[in-house]
Amino acid sequence: MKYVFGNWKMNGSFDDIKKFKKEFFSLKLPKNTKFGIAVPFVYLQKMNEIFSKKCEIGVQNVGFADFGEFTGEISAKMLEDTKAKFCLVGHSERRHKFGETNEVVNQKLLSLQKTKTKAILCVGETKEEFEQKKTKKVLKTQLEKCLKNVGVKNLIVAYEPVWAIGTGLTPTAKIVEDTILYVKKVLNQIFGENEILVLYGGSVKPENANALLKSKAVDGALVGGASLDAKKFVEIGKNIA
Ligand code: PEP
Repeated sequence: MKYVFGNWKMNGSFDDIKKFKKEFFSLKLPKNTKFGIAVPFVYLQKMNEIFSKKCEIGVQNVGFADFGEFTGEISAKMLEDTKAKFCLVGHSERRHKFGETNEVVNQKLLSLQKTKTKAILCVGETKEEFEQKKTKKVLKTQLEKCLKNVGVKNLIVAYEPVWAIGTGLTPTAKIVEDTILYVKKVLNQIFGENEILVLYGGSVKPENANALLKSKAVDGALVGGASLDAKKFVEIGKNIA
């Protein structure tokens, strides 16, 4: 089984949802692929009503506290209440544009773990770190800090090189495979034997999905831009099935 999770980021409208629905339901989904889409909070309920039987609907962020004086925030309990199936945590745009640290990401994961909503923890190195061959060191630190006291339950990890997100650049398939094997090794060191899925994310498109994700080590993809187009999104699933 392979997994394809979309991330709509701050995109979409009710009109876009109508268009996406029409296209998505006209397509035949591959049998051995599971789909999910992380949508803006405000579209969660509508998207769930339409897609929940064919595609898991989740969100892109969560507050670190359970409740209280945190104007504008949404808690993990509220996500559970509104039936979000999963939540991205520590996406590079949250880390780099909103200053989220590994410690904040850790609090968010701990909060989510008190609920039934799955967490997709995003980790990845910057271009500079990649060029300086620091990828493994960065990933180990991110994983150890973000997963402090976190359990294996309801946890997925996405390896997303920051320099590959939204840029059209990708690592080679060999780097993707080797890095995901390394992430799995660190997860084994933290948790012992486990079945945590590890996805790759960063400029995945229908044209490169098969080559990038064909390794058995790669459990699937986290797809940003291409997930806004139902045809491309499903095509990615078909190409890695
Ligand atoms: C993402 O937003 O997690 C992502 C991988 O984006 P893109 O596919 O557009 O690079």
